[in-house]
Amino acid sequence: MSNFNPDLSWPDSLWKATAESEQTFSALMGDIETDILIVGAGYTGLSSALHLKINSDDVVVIDQAQPGWGCSGRNGGQINPNWKTALDQLEKLYSKEGLRLFLKTIDQSADLVFDLVDQYDIKCHAQRNGCLISGKGEKTRIYLSNWANNWQSMKVEVELMDSRATADMVGTDFYEYSLLDHRGGSLQPLSYARGLARACTEKGITLFGDTAALSVTQIPDGWRVSSANGNIKCRKLILATNGYTDSLWPGLCRCLIPVASMLSATEPLPADLADTILPARQPVAEYMAVPFYYRIDESGRMVFGGRGTITGGIGRLNTQHLKARAIALFPALKSVKWEYDWAGYVGITAHQQPMLMHLGENVYAGLGFNGRGITMATMMGKQLAKAVAGETPGLPIRHSEQIPFHRFHRLGVAARILSGHIADRF
Ligand SMILES: Cc1cc2nc3c(=O)[nH]c(=O)nc-3n(C[C@H](O)[C@H](O)[C@H](O)COP(=O)(O)OP(=O)(O)OC[C@H]3O[C@@H](n4cnc5c(N)ncnc54)[C@H](O)[C@@H]3O)c2cc1C
Repeated sequence: MSNFNPDLSWPDSLWKATAESEQTFSALMGDIETDILIVGAGYTGLSSALHLKINSDDVVVIDQAQPGWGCSGRNGGQINPNWKTALDQLEKLYSKEGLRLFLKTIDQSADLVFDLVDQYDIKCHAQRNGCLISGKGEKTRIYLSNWANNWQSMKVEVELMDSRATADMVGTDFYEYSLLDHRGGSLQPLSYARGLARACTEKGITLFGDTAALSVTQIPDGWRVSSANGNIKCRKLILATNGYTDSLWPGLCRCLIPVASMLSATEPLPADLADTILPARQPVAEYMAVPFYYRIDESGRMVFGGRGTITGGIGRLNTQHLKARAIALFPALKSVKWEYDWAGYVGITAHQQPMLMHLGENVYAGLGFNGRGITMATMMGKQLAKAVAGETPGLPIRHSEQIPFHRFHRLGVAARILSGHIADRF
């Protein structure tokens, strides 16, 4: 069983308050038939729908809430094509050819996001001014320089920066090293999700909101998915539910751990202060055992994110630890007002790899973006469309990989966060 029952109202987020106008998709009423049904209208599901090379009339997307309600409308808006796992770890997880394909796939993931934004004219303040990964200590130096060497050998424009160059770019002397990756940037995440949904409808794809898939049954020529007010008969099924995966498909929610990440946003900063923090507006993702991430958005607000409760939940949405860390990095933030707090569930996998899974006859799932979903969930959609079409995707096709002792995952997350805080301190 899924271990949480999400509240389906919208979070009180900065993105909800500032996103492009909302189109409300009505719930399914009655029984329908389609070739391909996609469950989940976040980046993964919507990108899958847009990439399927079949008649769009034959594709239906449903969501228990509305497009972008999940992580896709809650995230930090950082477009970062780098993968969090160290390169030497990836070498152990993939064959030589598998790793080459994986690196090629993640290399193209930021291009894919910016291409979709251009192609469908999505108004989401997309900026391609690079992104930063910043940290301290020898482990960070090795991690960043290995990735810098790898990308440079693939002719990708990245720069390894020392503490002084980082301080100039970020506005704090806290960090010793950074990787500046010119492929990255930022966007308004909910506007991006809504833009993808609009693109789907313009192509003739049918979307239903407020339609939770409640059960899946195999029938002679495909699958029947039931919802409260109607059934959908389909030949092929894509599950794109990531950190909100419930018990719809047996065991799928045990293939990942939903871990809360929280964000806070300030009022627009006074211009003199905004000029001293991230003056060129690159987003920062820390490389630390318990990382924070932040950026200044298009209206000059500091948007600062980090872990949820110590056990990986949302709890009472207490974001004091975020504000304390933001002020420790940028003391001038002490005098500004924080206006929004919100949170969502990131899908974490045991090996920190995204998973394109073949679950049953013509049933696929794509999940586990480990906090890099703007790029990787969008790319997963494209890879799922390939897998469904019988083409070879740029990610390995996996089968169900349930995490051992999954029911104790809250304890595991707490141990990981506490030991991470100790490691970061010393
Ligand atoms: C606070 C936070 C900050 C983040 N920051 C960043 C960042 O800066 N950069 C980055 O790249 N990534 C970031 N991420 C991660 C990123 O947002 C996700 O990886 C990405 O949005 C995943 O997209 P998705 O479509 O797979 O899942 P989601 O967007 O979560 O969509 C899943 C959908 O499935 C639906 N669903 C679930 N079960 C059912 C069902 N039974 N029936 C119908 N519908 C169902 C849900 O309603 C939901 O809309 C962050 C995540 C969070 C929470």
